[in-house]
Amino acid sequence: MESMLKIQNLKKSFGNKEVLKDISLDIQEGEVVTIIGSSGSGKSTLLRCLNLLEEPTGGEILYKGKNVLASDFKRNHYRTKIGMVFQSYNLFQNKNVLENCLVGPVKVLGENKEEVQKRALINLEMVGMAAFIHALPRQLSGGQQQRVAIARSLTMQPEILLFDEPTSALDPEMVDDVLEIMRKLTSGGLTMAIVTHEMEFARDVSDRIVFMDQGLVAETGSPEQIFENPQNKRTQAFLERFL
Ligand code: ADP
Ligand code: MG
Repeated sequence: MESMLKIQNLKKSFGNKEVLKDISLDIQEGEVVTIIGSSGSGKSTLLRCLNLLEEPTGGEILYKGKNVLASDFKRNHYRTKIGMVFQSYNLFQNKNVLENCLVGPVKVLGENKEEVQKRALINLEMVGMAAFIHALPRQLSGGQQQRVAIARSLTMQPEILLFDEPTSALDPEMVDDVLEIMRKLTSGGLTMAIVTHEMEFARDVSDRIVFMDQGLVAETGSPEQIFENPQNKRTQAFLERFL
């Protein structure tokens, strides 16, 4: 099977600070890959390199076999295929819930507004936010905003959805709602790369776990392998903090 994303020897430095040292990772179509690791290990930088919010300083990213970093690669089209859900939701503050979902497909992809609206309403229904289509982000709780952010990403019909600690900024009582929606997406066959500290969730939904440490993939394996029998000392030390 061809990889959705094939990351080879990826490197990223900021000035002389080497944040990603040599990352190689394959994400297959339909796969759910969860990236865990301490704060500062480079998880966000990796996701941001994958959707080209950051420019890698070395290595390759292949999207369905095509070199994303090549000069003739159609970056704008690619960016529309790679969705991202951020810790801080990043909704458009001056647009209501429905408009937030419409703007990308209509303005960026040039799609028919009525068609997009149908899709947006289905996605808002799925995340439990259909009753709030006229609300502005500031009128919603963090959990509700994050659910809208997920619906907005889905309405772009991404090939892969990246999540960067989507529940880390939420009050505890809202975390489960968001995880429940992500759980639905994982069983729906969407390709996902998730950075999270929710270990129970990661164990339940992931096809593969990647443990990052100091800019490297220190260990990767099935949830059973990583959570029950980690081989790397640093993986062991990291996971002990969650017991
Ligand atoms: P994680 O998401 O695992 O906590 P990050 O990818 O956010 O890690 O950060 C990894 C390291 O890279 C940190 O030391 C951070 O300070 C540094 N870093 C991230 N972004 C930048 C930037 N834009 N400029 C300089 N240093 C950065
Ligand atoms: Mg981070």
